[in-house]
Amino acid sequence: MKNDQTVLTDTFGRRFPYLRLSVTDVCNFRCSYCLPDGYKKSGCEPFLSTEEIGRVVRAFAAMGTWKIRLTGGEPTVRSDFTEIVEIAAATPGIERLAFTTNGYRLPERAEEFYKAGLRAINISIDSLKADKFREITSHDRLEEILDGIDAALDAGFEAVKINTVLLKGLNDDELDDFLDFVQDKPLSLRFIELMRTLDNQDYYGAHHLSGQTVRDRLTARGWQEIERAEGAGPAVEFIHPDSRGRIGIIAPYSKDFCKTCNRLRISAKGALHLCLFGSGGYSLREYLQSDDQMEALQDKIMELMRFKRSSHFLQQNDSGATPHLASIGG
Ligand code: SAM
Ligand code: SF4
Repeated sequence: MKNDQTVLTDTFGRRFPYLRLSVTDVCNFRCSYCLPDGYKKSGCEPFLSTEEIGRVVRAFAAMGTWKIRLTGGEPTVRSDFTEIVEIAAATPGIERLAFTTNGYRLPERAEEFYKAGLRAINISIDSLKADKFREITSHDRLEEILDGIDAALDAGFEAVKINTVLLKGLNDDELDDFLDFVQDKPLSLRFIELMRTLDNQDYYGAHHLSGQTVRDRLTARGWQEIERAEGAGPAVEFIHPDSRGRIGIIAPYSKDFCKTCNRLRISAKGALHLCLFGSGGYSLREYLQSDDQMEALQDKIMELMRFKRSSHFLQQNDSGATPHLASIGG
């Protein structure tokens, strides 16, 4: 156990064992709530190099972070993604390496990812109907993504989770299909409440479905909320006596959501984001240029922690400066 001076803590006493590290903004999908017009290059600053990523991971690990999730954009589009995984996995102190992916080419690559050191995978699937899946993501790849789940389980992944954004009028009629889907599988499926970002205001107005509505539907079907483990993040988890799979709800608009915040974010260009819905990031890039800067890097991160607010202001319709979640890693 590290002493409190070296453990990342904010002014509200929250600790941060978990880092979400974006490795690219680029995405090959065009999810209608995220990048409906596809990826557009933002500025000419390059994404973090493998050396810079290695330094970020080492600095956080030295301050008590033991879980890292690689995300994006679509993290697997980076040609050096496997190398990034190997670097993070080999960093002392990192006990859990996870990633979030749209599942593109997962059947072919799941084993490679596991061998490189990834142990937990979140696969985004917003519909179990091929035409609806295509409508939401602009890719006709549902079958491939479903095969990817089996490939991840076969490869040995310890945790395979599905991320599903339930959208009013688009896929919310599939709730029972999703529950059936996990019934006999060792999967955890998370319903994520649609979040308003700068770019999706009208879409949000048309398709937002509250986490409370989903929660009510689950309890009406006999799902029971389980007590959260100490240090667990903001997902509320449910089990059902007839289901092998589990269901989670991530409802950022719910009261007290931020009380259990245990994560920080680094953007693909090296900015520290204290909140998904903050007013921007704090660039750490100048501290990532040499191994000799490790102490200065850690001091800078510690210093920035005092700016972490107790909560986001989504309820007041303030979703901060985030254009879409691909920009800082959802
Ligand atoms: N491309 C990868 C993927 O889709 O899994 C990783 C990045 S994506 C930004 C991470 C997660 O954020 C996905 O599960 C996606 O469905 C979710 N997401 C993106 N935009 C969102 C929004 N506005 N509200 C809620 N979830 C969102
Ligand atoms: Fe790409 Fe993921 Fe955003 Fe979909 S949710 S557009 S897969 S970054």
